[in-house]
Amino acid sequence: MYAQVIVDIASEAGAHTYTYRIPEGMELCPGYRVQVPFGRQTKEGVVLKVEEQSDYPPEKTKEIKAPLEDYPAILPWLLELAGEMAGVNHCPLAETLRLMIPPDMRRQQVSVRTRRFFQLDIPREKVAEERDKLGKKTRCRMILDLLSDGAGHDMEEIRTLVRDPGPHLKELKERKLIRETREEWLRTPEGLSRSAEDDGPELTPDQEEVIGQVLPSLKKGEGRFLLHGVTGSGKTEVFMRLVQHVLNAGRSALILVPEIALTPQMVAWFGRRFGEAAAVIHSRLGRGERFDEWRRIRRGEARVVIGARSAVFSPLTNLGLIVIDEEHEQSYLSDRHPRYDVRDVALSRALREHATLLLASATPSMLSFAKARKGLYTLLEMPSRIGGRPLPEVTVVDMRRELEKGNRSMFSLPLQKALRTCVEQGHQAMLLMNHRGYYSFVSCRRCGEPVKCRNCDVSLTYHFGGGEALLHCHYCGYTAPVPRVCPACGSDRIRYFGAGTQKVEDEVRHMFPGLSVGRMDMDTTRGKSGHAGILEKFRSGETRILVGTQMIAKGLDFPQVTLVGVLAADMTLHFPDYRARERTFQLLTQVSGRAGRGETPGQVVVQTYQPENEVIQLSARQDYRSFYESEISRRRTAMYPPFTVMVRLLVESGKAERAEAQARRLAERVGSILDAHPEWAAIRLLFTVEQPPLTMIRGRFRWHVLFKLRAGSEAERLCGVLSGLAEERQEDCDVYYEYNPSAMM
Ligand code: ADP
Ligand code: ZN
Ligand code: ZN
Repeated sequence: MYAQVIVDIASEAGAHTYTYRIPEGMELCPGYRVQVPFGRQTKEGVVLKVEEQSDYPPEKTKEIKAPLEDYPAILPWLLELAGEMAGVNHCPLAETLRLMIPPDMRRQQVSVRTRRFFQLDIPREKVAEERDKLGKKTRCRMILDLLSDGAGHDMEEIRTLVRDPGPHLKELKERKLIRETREEWLRTPEGLSRSAEDDGPELTPDQEEVIGQVLPSLKKGEGRFLLHGVTGSGKTEVFMRLVQHVLNAGRSALILVPEIALTPQMVAWFGRRFGEAAAVIHSRLGRGERFDEWRRIRRGEARVVIGARSAVFSPLTNLGLIVIDEEHEQSYLSDRHPRYDVRDVALSRALREHATLLLASATPSMLSFAKARKGLYTLLEMPSRIGGRPLPEVTVVDMRRELEKGNRSMFSLPLQKALRTCVEQGHQAMLLMNHRGYYSFVSCRRCGEPVKCRNCDVSLTYHFGGGEALLHCHYCGYTAPVPRVCPACGSDRIRYFGAGTQKVEDEVRHMFPGLSVGRMDMDTTRGKSGHAGILEKFRSGETRILVGTQMIAKGLDFPQVTLVGVLAADMTLHFPDYRARERTFQLLTQVSGRAGRGETPGQVVVQTYQPENEVIQLSARQDYRSFYESEISRRRTAMYPPFTVMVRLLVESGKAERAEAQARRLAERVGSILDAHPEWAAIRLLFTVEQPPLTMIRGRFRWHVLFKLRAGSEAERLCGVLSGLAEERQEDCDVYYEYNPSAMM
């Protein structure tokens, strides 16, 4: 027997497939990880195929050394999925295979963790006698007493009894009274208690209705649904009940949520509901934790996985349901290579493994809602909040009028008043400012030049921390002192513009001296549990006002929040991206949805310089349908997705002229390809080569070739050709192929 093995999938140079002989008696099937001889080294490989014959001369064929596990690490359907993804992305199989196993398992960096257990090594009847022999050795006697029940006790437990028990345990072992065993021990992610103790509340009629619509498909292992439920309508409970049905039927389920929504509270709640059957996968897990969760899933011990993006590749068997919560989230698009859209991967898994797919959001993406309109998804709706709670009342404040009235602060009078009332009544408030730092940029009053990053074509942000002000680049991390004089013209009229979260926090502290104010943005949430700490303080009520970027808008359920203030609603609206309106609508609707989730009704104050703007108006009314209708007709007229496909080939090089030359050469190649395929003339709406808005990032100069194609199968075919061009690497140039990228910056 022979095996085709893809060797060294971890190597960046690209892996290749070789044929090896399977030794007598070694049982292998596709998906096994194996050790193979490679030159003089031993390398790791993944078995792709097992066959009886090989075309390769037998005397040159080497033998597989050993399997790395006694089970295939990559399940057959995930092997197929990797193959399909490699095809779609036009990338090597090794790159997509890598997604299927935890990163640290690949390089053998994590070990199976063991726990030390201690147990009696003498019959229980003898304990009393031996105990007396220990005389004054009190600690040894205490330990012996603990172990006298005959059960195994771990180090942690012994330590609660005796501080520093090492020497005493040693003594007891030497006297042959106790013995030590090591057991494999699976790390439990923080906060996940694994005892199911909660059956959930009684369902509302809306929830019953939606579940009733999904169940028949669930039983048949089919169906794609889009659940549009307003914020606070109880979507999570719907998922939980469906998962319960799936588990009862002996199948498994996958719930994908945005990374940021995987709060300790959510994790704990999930664990209480599903107990031992639950596993959690997210990027803040330690390497060992992640590896252990992966193994529990692979062995079938965990049958419900809740996780962020990468959890879509969890090695579940007999999958019955995939849920994608907050399906509109940008984070479901992986921008790292190989690029993938979780929604596409989930659909592919659902089809291949006969599972039901359920997407859910209060603000479905234009793409998904358009699919529902076309009948590709069944639309389910939950139009009202749990307990008949009203949606929050939204006040749109015209900041131009505030200026006219002489209010130059960043807080309008209505927002100031609402904040005061909220604080006086002992409630909590959230303030959204979608920019971190203190001031968003620093520029010269005389020549107008902003201070820019040395490595990137972006202006630097003013940050204040630890008593020191510094300019930061949000793209490359470069920092510089705040200049006294303008680097461009030497004038000393340096001024700061545009407030960020730090400034908001500062102002709130001035407004309410002594009140506890929190801030959640990328700067305060670095590290393993940075954002958990901030949210916990807010949940407990210790923090009264939470200032933050869009991070605070997402899926959080804090019943004490009665006020949400949006400080600069226009900020995302004017982003040079065809999705700016959609993003703004989602952000405003989602953040408003954080208010009034408890007993007291919520209030939202939206500050804007364009109160008449349609997006602001519709989000204030939480009118998704009207927004969708308006936006879809705009997209149709302006020829944007879903009617078209936007594609770009992005070229980056350390040398400006190399980037440009390479982009132009690519454009020429595309030109001749298009000439050879006259059928593509009709779908080509835009084809241009230019500098993107950000001309340099991290010291790399950028050019791009942009395409807009009429959506359809011809467009997909052309995309295949275009992505192939990106694969042909050029020296000192990187070329990236991007399909409907999240921004054309
Ligand atoms: P959504 O995700 O739709 O914004 P959630 O799932 O967060 O809403 O639910 C909002 C709140 O309602 C949560 O606190 C949840 O525990 C509660 N809830 C959900 N379903 C029920 C129910 N049937 N009865 C009582 N409370 C419920
Ligand atoms: Zn100047
Ligand atoms: Zn930079």
